[in-house]
Amino acid sequence: MISRLKGTDDILPPDSRRWRALFRAFYRLSELYGYDLALLPVIEATELFSRGVGEATEVVEKQMYTFEDRGGRSVTLRPELTAGMVRAFVEAGALGTMKLAAEGPMFRYEQPQKGRRRQFYQVDFEYLGEASPDADVEVIELSHRFLEEVGVEGITLKVNSIGDSADRLAYRLILQEFLRSREADLSPEARRRIDSNPLRVLDSKADVEAVADAPVPIDHLGEAARAHFGAVCAGLDAVGIPYEVEGRLVRGLDYYNRTVFELFSSSFEAAQSALGGGGRYDPLAGLIGSKKEVPAVGVALGCDRIVEAMPDPGGRRLDLFVAVVDADRRDEARRWLGQLRSAGLRVEWDPVPGRSLRGQFKSADRSGAGAVAIVGDEWSEGEVTVKRFGTGEGERLQIEEVASWLLGR
Ligand code: AMP
Repeated sequence: MISRLKGTDDILPPDSRRWRALFRAFYRLSELYGYDLALLPVIEATELFSRGVGEATEVVEKQMYTFEDRGGRSVTLRPELTAGMVRAFVEAGALGTMKLAAEGPMFRYEQPQKGRRRQFYQVDFEYLGEASPDADVEVIELSHRFLEEVGVEGITLKVNSIGDSADRLAYRLILQEFLRSREADLSPEARRRIDSNPLRVLDSKADVEAVADAPVPIDHLGEAARAHFGAVCAGLDAVGIPYEVEGRLVRGLDYYNRTVFELFSSSFEAAQSALGGGGRYDPLAGLIGSKKEVPAVGVALGCDRIVEAMPDPGGRRLDLFVAVVDADRRDEARRWLGQLRSAGLRVEWDPVPGRSLRGQFKSADRSGAGAVAIVGDEWSEGEVTVKRFGTGEGERLQIEEVASWLLGR
């Protein structure tokens, strides 16, 4: 028997019920905040990520599913959505701003454990073409709202600013000097990153003590980035979302500038506690070769971790089970099922014709329906017998009355 690959999951009921609740909240909030749906390829040119996300990042160095296709091109299963979103925006020749929402599987070759999968799922909101700090505030507010909406508890938000490209270049030299002075205390990985990606050392788990008093980007912001960050914080204050400014939060990908943020839940241990993260990525379009500048900000939220922090959605999954006494009436009953479903009711019946009423009641019980309707002799008078599970007697109702009876009207 062939089994699934390491680090991948079959998401089936009852677990998938929480996933459905998550995606419902995602689609609902996308509409409320005006984010249109984007469906993008799962497979992209490798360069999109090596240039967009950056050669010296962990994702590109170690985690990508990259292979040659039959035409000899190097292709990669997307490890993240942002680079593809900007590519799509530029490729569509889009003008002005566009707010996009996307969801789907991402692929990273990781050491699998709980909350760290090789195929995992993200929901994603991107505000493209907008430089205003109000876009940053909206994306952060929406992320926070989404986690609240699906029932995550103990949400905390960390924000930081890593400055503009020029600030980053100047700060990078300051940080490199500091790291060289502490080289002996650094992990081998961090030592290697001094030249290639020194920012990443700031959030390295193995180097927390060694970099405790490192200079942080927020103390080296230029005028414009400082004003932008001030406006983001003021906006968050105004909408009443609590946050912490965390100087060491950098999110180590090449495309970020200015705002970066992460969301956590107290339901998790530290290592896998980030439920989502994002930030502003004005340089990304340029990194992937666009002549047009695309200021933008976005967020990716990790569904696999979020569902772990979600309560069971509970409730019944079925409103009514229809039992048919006489198999000759199945075609009429079949049409009635269709009408009830059109009225928005979740209805089921026994798929096998001619089963005894007792057998059908058993199926009804197992189905988790709240009530049963019996199509018997009274059908010829336009009536059925209905009964709620867990209560006493059944009652006869006109067929047209059943929907409102179920809905309690
Ligand atoms: P990132 O942009 O890498 O910070 O990813 C955003 C969010 O996706 C994280 O905060 C996690 O919740 C989730 N995530 C990232 N990588 C994985 C993974 N390998 N397995 C499960 N969730 C992940």
